[in-house]
Amino acid sequence: MTYKLWIEGRWQDTQGGKMMAIENPATGVVIAEVIDASRADVDRAVQAAHTAFYDGRWSKLTPAERSLAIWKLADLLEARKEEFAKLESENTGKPYQFVSLGGDLPFAVDNLRFFAAAARDTHGYSSGEYAKGYTSIYRREPVGVVGQITPWNYPLMMAIWKIGPALAAGCTVVLKPAPTTPLTTLLLAELLAEAGIPAGVVNIVTGGTDVGQALVEHPDVRLVSLTGSTGTGKKIMRTAADTLKRVHLELGGKAPFIVFDDVDVEAIAGTAAFTSTVNTGQDCTAATRVYVEASRAKRATEAFVEAMRAVKVGLPFDDGVQMGPLISGVQRERVQGFVDRAKANGASILTGGRVPGGRDSGYFFEPTVIADADQKAEIIQSEVFGPVLTISTFKDEADAIRLGNDVNYGLAASVWTRDIGRAMRVSSQLEFGTVWINDHIPLTSETPHGGFKQSGIGKDLSAEAVSDYKITKHVMVKNA
Ligand code: NAD
Repeated sequence: MTYKLWIEGRWQDTQGGKMMAIENPATGVVIAEVIDASRADVDRAVQAAHTAFYDGRWSKLTPAERSLAIWKLADLLEARKEEFAKLESENTGKPYQFVSLGGDLPFAVDNLRFFAAAARDTHGYSSGEYAKGYTSIYRREPVGVVGQITPWNYPLMMAIWKIGPALAAGCTVVLKPAPTTPLTTLLLAELLAEAGIPAGVVNIVTGGTDVGQALVEHPDVRLVSLTGSTGTGKKIMRTAADTLKRVHLELGGKAPFIVFDDVDVEAIAGTAAFTSTVNTGQDCTAATRVYVEASRAKRATEAFVEAMRAVKVGLPFDDGVQMGPLISGVQRERVQGFVDRAKANGASILTGGRVPGGRDSGYFFEPTVIADADQKAEIIQSEVFGPVLTISTFKDEADAIRLGNDVNYGLAASVWTRDIGRAMRVSSQLEFGTVWINDHIPLTSETPHGGFKQSGIGKDLSAEAVSDYKITKHVMVKNA
């Protein structure tokens, strides 16, 4: 299958771009070709979004009309969910059961329905008389054309988390999916017109860093929203400074999983393994750093290692598979490098740490547990983005908080204890955008998701996401 660019509501050829191959990471087989767009292509897409924004074909619709179209898009996606889930599994290698049933697809549909409802939310500033003889009116207006850039770990869901709130706010969009996983985002284009979203409101350009860079540099783009690594977020923020664009950045994470001594560690081992190998660990909120109270360390380590060994690794469409391959050979080398350096620096590999036997094709890596790593070691401080869990100990509550916070990231954390007072004290001191108590990983459409510290700026999901795509105008009316 060969895909073109989606600009102004139709498939368009590139002007000066090249073709690039898209692989199935579970087999290494090429499954499609897409365009690596040129600057001229990005410019055309931005012009289409610009025209669509300023002629009001979307921004001047009533909230009810926008809401209906977003809801229809959700219905259309739901009607074709098996097709989307299959394509997503083929393009990412993730187990079909996690994409189709209770996973990415139903959540993406629910996200869209939430944003359809949020399009009609009228909360905001109240108008009134703040100076004698004047009435102040506040208008919450769409920010304009937005450039949106997504990663490869949850391609369709990330696209929905971007376009959902932007559409609800009345913005128009140029979306660039990750170069390895653009297929479901491109398939989404087929649904837009039928949902009643006018041509030019959502444009999709494919390609890598240069295409993203062209979007960030473009003077007609008012806001750039990225989900990606912290390094990319920093580059984008620097580039965006030249045109003083707003930035909305959902970046990397290094989630701690903090276990106090009143917890039944055998009972939570399955959750620790699941949440660290979810999406092959390529999840910004995945559990990556276990800190367990010293008195429970031996039992927790044994239980967590056993649970990690029990994770079923395999091809995405095979029965019962819980973990597929990493996204690419480059990513597997990266993960292997982190593990090898940890070992060389004195850490112990308790299980995993290499390519599983008998997997010659595809980019598989074993679920891995590492102990004895120093808190300042790279394996504790850096985002690995693979199925790798470190286990360390702490001596008391203050130590747990200190260690949990002692990274540059601040996206998500979990605290495990039966003591509600302790749960409240610890959660209030952890510097993370999400803190789970006695669980790890669940999200809802209503609740904000976004990082503290170097994990980002702004929120995905929730009413806050819609708010991030709006700008406030104060209209001051002289009464006399
Ligand atoms: P990445 O930063 O390499 O790429 C993300 C996107 O940015 C891709 O589309 C890429 O082509 C584009 N890009 C890269 N350099 C660019 C530049 N200089 N200018 C403009 N665009 C550029 O990230 P990835 O490897 O695709 O994804 C994994 C990362 O995403 C991890 O760090 C993960 O934690 C993060 N992530 C964060 C969240 C969140 O909600 N905070 C969710 C999912 C993934």
